[in-house]
Amino acid sequence: MTISAKNFRELRLERMRRDFGTHNALKDISLTIKRGEFIALLGPSGCGKSTALNCLAGLLPLTGGSIWVDETRIDHLKPEDRGFGMVFQNYALFPHMSLRKNIGFGLRMQNKPKDVIDAKVEEALSLVRLSTQGSKLPGQISGGQQQRVAIARAIVVEPPLVLMDEPLSNLDAKLRLEMRAEIRRIHNMIGCSTIYVTHDQDEALSLADRIVVLRDGEVRQVGTPQELYARPAHADVAEFMGYRNILKAEAESEVNGMLNMRLGAARLSGSAVEAMSGRDVVAALRPEDLTPSKDGPITASVISAEYRGRDFYGLARTEDGMELWFRSEIAVRPGEDLRLGAPADRVLVYPTRAA
Ligand code: ATP
Repeated sequence: MTISAKNFRELRLERMRRDFGTHNALKDISLTIKRGEFIALLGPSGCGKSTALNCLAGLLPLTGGSIWVDETRIDHLKPEDRGFGMVFQNYALFPHMSLRKNIGFGLRMQNKPKDVIDAKVEEALSLVRLSTQGSKLPGQISGGQQQRVAIARAIVVEPPLVLMDEPLSNLDAKLRLEMRAEIRRIHNMIGCSTIYVTHDQDEALSLADRIVVLRDGEVRQVGTPQELYARPAHADVAEFMGYRNILKAEAESEVNGMLNMRLGAARLSGSAVEAMSGRDVVAALRPEDLTPSKDGPITASVISAEYRGRDFYGLARTEDGMELWFRSEIAVRPGEDLRLGAPADRVLVYPTRAA
């Protein structure tokens, strides 16, 4: 007997909408998730991630739109009839039940025969590497182990879709990294689809096949981690993906999508992500792409610098008061004047309205 996801082709959200009174928390979200895909739902606090997950789980009714598994519409079904697995931040284990009993709960609700339940529970325990701990109570194991039990409980019913809401946020940094790898390994082994809610872009980049960036209840961009990292579609997505320098600039000329800009007193070249309509633009660049160079176009004075083992990560201010995050391979000190530059293809330029 092996635990594997139920057979299906895709899950579809068609114009999924949710209002709270007059507040439109989810605005017509449409998305297709293939079997086996790992999707990260990424966005800042309040963007609607949990609302979207709760709508999928059936814990919140939709205000509009529909949810489909292949040709079957499921948004009117109760949570237990959707057959999805759920893993939350707070584990939500039954404290008085052994780990085995916790994991077998869903199978007992489905009235499965005892021998089937026992075999599947043992297999789920082994999948999350807790085979020797099954008779303990949740209070007798660590937070990381409790989260493994929560995952085992979610997958033991062989769901087509597993929904995870910030499942690692209660764990310390080291355990979070370990559990990330575990979650991806388990996902691959059982072949389910996973929707993973997070506000942490590193988590989304390292786990997901595709990332869905939400903002104000709207899908701002859907793409692979590589696509989102290299070319965010909007300035707000860029900011969220680690383009820490978001700078107002004035476009002076454009040739084949390469723009020459005035950035305060400095001139800088960048690459236009969208067609530009006016002179006011926003330049986005990562600190790691802005580095000291002899003839760099930006002159700035170092405010602070932090040694990170291989390089320095610093903040500098230009004469006209613009603050910039940069990276340097050589030691820099507060008060020191630097010339900074960035390759034009790493400076992404957006129209001001998208900022
Ligand atoms: P966080 O990461 O902080 O949990 P989130 O992205 O999950 O945020 P949601 O909890 O989905 O965001 O909330 C989306 C929006 O809907 C927010 O503006 C929130 O205030 C609002 N909202 C959520 N639940 C309710 C509710 N029960 N009643 C009224 N408004 C709500």
